[in-house]
Amino acid sequence: MQYISTRGGAPAVSFTDALLAGLAPDGGLYVPETWPQLSLDEIRAFAGAPYARVAAEILLRFAGASLTRDEAEAATETAYASFAHPARTPLSQLDADLWLLELFHGPTLAFKDVAMQLLRPLYEHALKAQGRRLTIVCATSGDTGGAAVEAFRGSPDIDLVVLFPHGRISEVQRRFMTAAPDDNVRCVAVDGTFDDCQAILKALFADRAFADAVDLSGVNSINWARIVAQSVYYFTAAVALGAPDRPISFAVPTGNFGDAFAGYVAHRMGLPIARIVVATNANDILARVVASGRYARGAVVATQSPAMDIQVASNFERLYFEAVGRDPVETARAFTVFGATGSLDLPSQARGEISALFDAASTTEAHTAQQMADTERRTGHLVDPHTAVALWAGQTIYRGAAPLVALSTAHPAKFPEAVQAATGVHPALPKRVGDLYARPERITRLPADIEAVKVFVRAGR
Ligand SMILES: *Cc1c(COP(=O)(O)O)cnc(C)c1O
Repeated sequence: MQYISTRGGAPAVSFTDALLAGLAPDGGLYVPETWPQLSLDEIRAFAGAPYARVAAEILLRFAGASLTRDEAEAATETAYASFAHPARTPLSQLDADLWLLELFHGPTLAFKDVAMQLLRPLYEHALKAQGRRLTIVCATSGDTGGAAVEAFRGSPDIDLVVLFPHGRISEVQRRFMTAAPDDNVRCVAVDGTFDDCQAILKALFADRAFADAVDLSGVNSINWARIVAQSVYYFTAAVALGAPDRPISFAVPTGNFGDAFAGYVAHRMGLPIARIVVATNANDILARVVASGRYARGAVVATQSPAMDIQVASNFERLYFEAVGRDPVETARAFTVFGATGSLDLPSQARGEISALFDAASTTEAHTAQQMADTERRTGHLVDPHTAVALWAGQTIYRGAAPLVALSTAHPAKFPEAVQAATGVHPALPKRVGDLYARPERITRLPADIEAVKVFVRAGR
């Protein structure tokens, strides 16, 4: 299995090379040359199988010659042993045809762990094979940084530097990064915004001499291996509810379109999915493009669901590529225009392709809070604000007959202030992370200055 760029200007690469590179050198995103197919019998056989086994099956379809069966099984075993629930991503029932898919049983209580825990064994396998040692730099507005720290801490082959905006993330999110005692992990509080952190990261990659000197790699949500890891729980959830013999629908809280695109991947592989409801907060670029056909950047506003406070949905380029019939010339044209002007209009055929599977809605802050309160009152479940966005959007716009599964992307204790304000109930941290507030933190504070960050990153090598 080879990977091609959505913009057509880069050579095809292996799964391993797509994993280590992140972005393609022509600025496009890697996608598989063809979509692997699972037969209905193969999907049916996932019923009752351990999560790690299903994950290995899916991973093998995408890894090609990059992994043997034993290597894929070892990687998924290791990755998901860190999850605190035997089902790894269990379902819980809220109503006759409404389910929560709990993706927060990993070490940092958010769904980013599902992909990041698998990246560690995949990276180490690739680096051992190539005799390399590399540096991962990651810019985070909260959950990605903690998931990366938990995944890569103590790795002998990887140095990890996390950049986060000083004073602009929650205490729980910060402590999940800064409480790691391991020497290969360094956390930087940047005097600036998340956008400054991302701009610095981009500049590090753009400086080829620097990037080569530290063997720089990225694990943000455009990394193809993360999408593969996230497609797995669409299969396990749907099969548990009777797929492939009846279709299932999903409501997905999203900002960067990573998680919703993973659902599209499962669909393309043969899983019968009736609808995918794309649920955004007030940062509604995805809801607007589905409604109007115009993909246009907007101003970012701060919400109770900060992991989705994004107005450019990087993974949308992958869906666009599919919706225009996998035409790389058209995709390159469209995203060059988008880069220059901040907006692009979808051809009408592409709009049709997208609305054949996706619905979308954006949720106000009042509705998000009301949803948290209603869910608690009616079912006794405390849900985090991101999950509430999915529940509200799903229940408001979804009219299909198939059961609806709302992705629950964070544990309520990760966003305690918002949950308590809406429900009056304080969500307790699970016991396994109970001493988080007692652990010492290690933080280096730096100005939002590219050169200062370069000096800091080099010093760790
Ligand atoms: C990152 C995140 C999301 C959004 O994920 P996308 O990759 O944008 O789909 C939703 N909820 C939580 C809690 C997150 O951390």
